[in-house]
Amino acid sequence: MTFADLGLSDELLKAVTESGYDTPTPIQAQAIPSVLMMKDIIGIAQTGTGKTASFVLPMIDILAHGRARALMPRSLILEPTRELAAQVAENFEKYGKYHKLSMALLIGGVQMGDQVKALEKGVDVLIATPGRLMDLFERGKILLNGCNMLVIDEADRMLDMGFIPDIEHICTKLPAQRQTLLFSATMPPVIKKLADRFLSNPKSIEV
Ligand code: AMP
Repeated sequence: MTFADLGLSDELLKAVTESGYDTPTPIQAQAIPSVLMMKDIIGIAQTGTGKTASFVLPMIDILAHGRARALMPRSLILEPTRELAAQVAENFEKYGKYHKLSMALLIGGVQMGDQVKALEKGVDVLIATPGRLMDLFERGKILLNGCNMLVIDEADRMLDMGFIPDIEHICTKLPAQRQTLLFSATMPPVIKKLADRFLSNPKSIEV
């Protein structure tokens, strides 16, 4: 199995090769074609398995070939910590270097001013921690009506950190017709319930 077998665009294959990757990891081989076919996914995978690329790569292709709605972000990636959010943003820039997609990193601990400025210019992707996202949403700085792709990453850590109510709230603000990908190292009952409520006929992948 090669990256070229997964259905990614030539520009992405180039960025992947330049990242030094030869072969897709098991989660990438199983998730990428399904994400490109717009399926919901439950990925049971730890950090280190290559799971970030398994959602960032197909997301870039979906965004690049879809239609932008002015000023409305089209994808949202939720991460439990600032560090993880910053890492995913770095991955997004690396893999997306041949695409003209814009991104805003919305995390706590930094001034809101620059984040608001980025949002006002219009971005394709939001990479956020739940607390800061809710804060900006409640101040009326973000519209989530155009976000038809959602990634809930590290769901079990979200649970440990008390973010599940925020995530449920955010899910209700996104369009009901959307693609949702949920990744978690473990599947405690609360996460299973979250997936039952907010994913639609998901494909389960366990690596
Ligand atoms: P992740 O599980 O997303 O945190 O990724 C773990 C590490 O594996 C990161 O440093 C990636 O750059 C790297 N990586 C991701 N996919 C591949 C691949 N197909 N081949 C080699 N390394 C990879």
